Amino acid sequence: MDRPKLEVADVFRRYGEAYRQEHDASMSTAQRRVMTAIEVCRTAALGGHLERCDECGHERNCFNSCRDRHCPKCQSLARAQWIEDRQSELLEAPYFHAVFTVPEEIAAIACQNKGLVWGICG
Ligand SMILES: [Zn+2]
Repeated sequence: MDRPKLEVADVFRRYGEAYRQEHDASMSTAQRRVMTAIEVCRTAALGGHLERCDECGHERNCFNSCRDRHCPKCQSLARAQWIEDRQSELLEAPYFHAVFTVPEEIAAIACQNKGLVWGICG
């Protein structure tokens, strides 16, 4: 997968500190922590490790990831896996996928009886 020209980390590294100063009072500690994690993800700040290909033995140095669940880089593999999993579920026939919201009163019941309710909908 090609690296995008501009990543969230690039924006945070360039404008993050100014943003934090301007919005100091309204930002939570968790939000600051996420911004910092994204800024330093896969940089020398987090150190590195050596990766080795199991097939050919090729080695390369890689910076460590932040592993924050909000980090777009760290979630890219999970996202790709999710898409692959969903694509494997696609039927080889024309059909459409419907998403809808049930009334709040039914949602609580549906949440407790997922298998039964999803079967009714499907
Ligand atoms: Zn990350």
